[in-house]
Amino acid sequence: MLKDIIKKFEKIAKILNLSEKVKKRIIEPENILDFKIELNGKIFPAWRVQHNSLLGPYKGGIRFHPKTNLEEIKALAMIMTFKTALMDLPFGGGKGGVRINPKEYSEEELEKISRDYVRFIYQNIGENKDIPAPDMGTNEKIMEIMLNEYEKLTGKKSPATFTGKPIEKGGIVLRKEATGLGGAIITEEIVKKLNWQAKKTKIAIQGFGNVGSYAALYLFEKGFKIIAISDSLSGIFNPEGINIKEAIEYKKAIKYLKGFPGTEEITNQQLLSLKTDILIPAATENVITKNNAKNIKAKIIIELANGPITEAGEKILLKNKKIILPDILANAGGVTVSYFEWQQNKENKIWSKEKVFQELDKKMKNIFNKVWQTSLEEKIDLRTTAYLLAVKKLVEKIKF
Ligand code: GLU
Repeated sequence: MLKDIIKKFEKIAKILNLSEKVKKRIIEPENILDFKIELNGKIFPAWRVQHNSLLGPYKGGIRFHPKTNLEEIKALAMIMTFKTALMDLPFGGGKGGVRINPKEYSEEELEKISRDYVRFIYQNIGENKDIPAPDMGTNEKIMEIMLNEYEKLTGKKSPATFTGKPIEKGGIVLRKEATGLGGAIITEEIVKKLNWQAKKTKIAIQGFGNVGSYAALYLFEKGFKIIAISDSLSGIFNPEGINIKEAIEYKKAIKYLKGFPGTEEITNQQLLSLKTDILIPAATENVITKNNAKNIKAKIIIELANGPITEAGEKILLKNKKIILPDILANAGGVTVSYFEWQQNKENKIWSKEKVFQELDKKMKNIFNKVWQTSLEEKIDLRTTAYLLAVKKLVEKIKF
C-alpha cells in the first residue's frame, strides 16, 4: 500500500518537476513512534507516525486492527497529509495503530491498551502538535479514555487534543456520521454533474460500519436505490433496493446483515462486480486489485475506505473509463468535522447540528467542484487532480 501511495505521489512530482530534496520532504515521515504494549503477558506492537506538519499539527486516526503494521500506518499517515492539504485544513498528516483484534478483548482490556498507548505518545501529541481521532476498530469511547489518560499525565485540561469524542466530553454533533455523510454529499454532486436521477441510480456499498451505514442511510433517504450492502461476514442483495433504515435495525438486533428478509445472500467479492451505477467500497484497503478490476461494472467508484483500489487495479479501471472519486476527497468528511470539533473546543463554543451540516456540505461541495473543474481543464483523472492540488499546497510551504 505504501508503494502505491508513493507511486501516486511520484506521478505528481514528475508533473511539477520536483527536486529529490523536495520529494523527500514530502515522502519521508517526520517522526515515527514505534513501541510495544503488554497485556496479560501478550505483546502488541503499536505505532504513531507523524508524517508531515508543513500545514499544521499532525492529524489522523488511531486504528486497532489484527493485521495493521508500520508500513500500513505510514501509508495512511501520508494519505492524511494529502487529505488535509486538499481540504484546506490547517493540519498535517499522522496516523496511529495497535496490532490487536478489538473484538477479542473486553472493555476493561481495551481501556488498559488505550491508556498504555497514550503513555507512550503523550509527550509527542497535543492540541497544537498532533491530534488523534478514531479509525478502524476505535470509537468515541476509546477517545474519551485516551483523552482522560492524556489529561492525567499532563495535568491540564485539553479536550482539543483528541477529536471524535463523545458529545458530553466535548465531542461535536455529526462527527460519527461525518465520513459517510461527506461521501454521500459528494455522490449527490457527481450524480448531478452526470444528469442522473437519484431514484434511477443503483448503488452497491461494501462495508456497513460507521462509514458505510451512514452513507447508505443518507443516500437511501435521498431516494437512491441501494441494491446491495455488506458486512465482514457477507453481503445482501435486492435489485429493487433495500430499505436501509430497516437493515440498520436488523443489524443492531442480529449483529449481522445475513438473513435480512427479502434479500439474496452474496459474497463481498460478488458485491464488487454487481450491475450497479455506483460502487462504494467503505470497508478496508486493497479490495479492488488487478484480479477483479476487470469485473467491475459500476461507472462511478466512490472511495469511502482509505486506499481500497491498488495501483494496478486503478490502471484497469481508468482504461475502462470508470470515474474514481479518490479517498482523500470522498472520505474527508470525517477529518473535516474533526476540524470543527477542534475549533469548537479551542473556542469553548458548541456548534449546532445545522451549523455542522451546513459547513460540511459547503466544504465538500467546494472542494469537489474545484477538483472536478480542474480535472476537466487539465484533462487528468480525479485522483491525479486531487493529489496535484494537495501536493502544490505542500510544496508552497517548503523552505530550505
Ligand atoms: N480516521 C479518519 C480518516 O482516515 C479521520 C481522521 C481524523 O478525524 O483526524 O480520515
